[in-house]
Amino acid sequence: MTRIIDLLNAAAARIGGETARLDAEVLLAHAMGCTRGDLLLNQQRSIDPQVYETMVKRRAAGEPVAHIVGSREFWSLDLIVTPDVLIPRPDSETLIEVALRLCDRPPTRILDLGTGSAALLLAALSEWTNATGLGIDASAAALAVAQANADRTGMAARAAFRLGDWGQGLEERFDLILCNPPYIGTSEALSDEVRDHEPAAALFAGADGLDDYRRILPQLAGLMTNDGLAVLEIGHRQGPALLALAAGHGLAATLHCDLAGRDRCVALRSG
Ligand code: GLN
Repeated sequence: MTRIIDLLNAAAARIGGETARLDAEVLLAHAMGCTRGDLLLNQQRSIDPQVYETMVKRRAAGEPVAHIVGSREFWSLDLIVTPDVLIPRPDSETLIEVALRLCDRPPTRILDLGTGSAALLLAALSEWTNATGLGIDASAAALAVAQANADRTGMAARAAFRLGDWGQGLEERFDLILCNPPYIGTSEALSDEVRDHEPAAALFAGADGLDDYRRILPQLAGLMTNDGLAVLEIGHRQGPALLALAAGHGLAATLHCDLAGRDRCVALRSG
């Protein structure tokens, strides 16, 4: 019988790169139906070598782990991920941390613009259990994933989803607005893994990556309650540009860093 440790070593060598070992473990745990932590305790468990081989081959060819296993954890929620949505990143958890810190009182209505997998909306609803939320996306395929995630996490009764163009046509006002728009400049360097496998519409926003902020910021004042808060993800070099844009639209803005100490989001209030 092949030992787990040998299986992992061989897979990691084929996958290569900084996360090779981790990837090999996550894929094997998925193939065995156990957690990563339980892998080495499961020596006796049988595994179909062909199933693992297929997964390792896909990973070695550059496919994201989240696509191979079909899910990714975000804010301790296990979310379905398909190529129709951006893979939730740990960096985006910064938005939830900032919202938790800056909301003066618990929000009751939450809006997620460009919801994708619904990661931000569901994370917020998991924190504010009396709140309800609306997720907007321009992609019907993404909305199907968002709805499936609301069902899977038991929050479907508090989450609604709608096809839309950012906040256009929304009559309602929200206490908290979350948004992770596309913000990569068209000619910016981006890893092949992201460029080849994640939806371009969720990544790219014109030459300077600011096109969607230019569309979203003018809408915000009309979407927020009087003491409402909006938290938008930004690229780590876009802070100054966002402060200028916010000032131009009469919004009070503060920048907040991710765990790596880089600007990751802008918090906005009606000025
Ligand atoms: N942070 C993502 C990346 O650099 C991009 C996400 C986005 O454009 N909203 O891979």
